[in-house]
Amino acid sequence: MIVMKKKWCRIRSDIMKKLTTVLIALLAASMLWGGEKVVGTNVSTKVKSELTKEKTMTDKVEKTNEEWRKQLTAEQYEVSRNKATERAFTGKFYKSNDKGVYRCVACDNPLFTSETKFDSGCGWPSYFKPISEDAVRNVEDNSHGMHRTEVVCGKCGGHLGHVFEDGPAPTGQRYCINSIILKFEKKDADKDAKDSKTK
Ligand SMILES: [Zn+2]
Repeated sequence: MIVMKKKWCRIRSDIMKKLTTVLIALLAASMLWGGEKVVGTNVSTKVKSELTKEKTMTDKVEKTNEEWRKQLTAEQYEVSRNKATERAFTGKFYKSNDKGVYRCVACDNPLFTSETKFDSGCGWPSYFKPISEDAVRNVEDNSHGMHRTEVVCGKCGGHLGHVFEDGPAPTGQRYCINSIILKFEKKDADKDAKDSKTK
């Protein structure tokens, strides 16, 4: 009887060993399969996040008034966020003829180029068109008992000035912009000439 029991024990332990081996093999297989699935998920998440990143790069800049106040000078804040207008003939760009690009001082968005700047005599820098279609946005403005079209930055929504229909060809538009909300990036004509020579 005792011998029988011992034998049965051996058989049972053999079965258990085999079972364990099968179980381990199954487990390993499922881990591999599962692992592959996880990698797959990672790849698609990565692609997705790259796409999101690209999208946010063209997205709008949104900040609280408090954040703008910290970033801008008091005068820039008044114009950009409270739609104030600098006094005519006082801004630093109204008679500038330098070649380059005018950007939004608040968010760095390129707005106008010197090629479209003209002397309108109104006392503010004037341009006949923005640098690109979505550089600025036009907003209806009925304040101060007038019907005007306000121009805001396409990226941060900051007030820039107004646009009127009395500009020169080819657009007939006059974008009348506050100097204080612009920053100028001068184009180096000598450097450009050198670059074209070396090419
Ligand atoms: Zn801006």
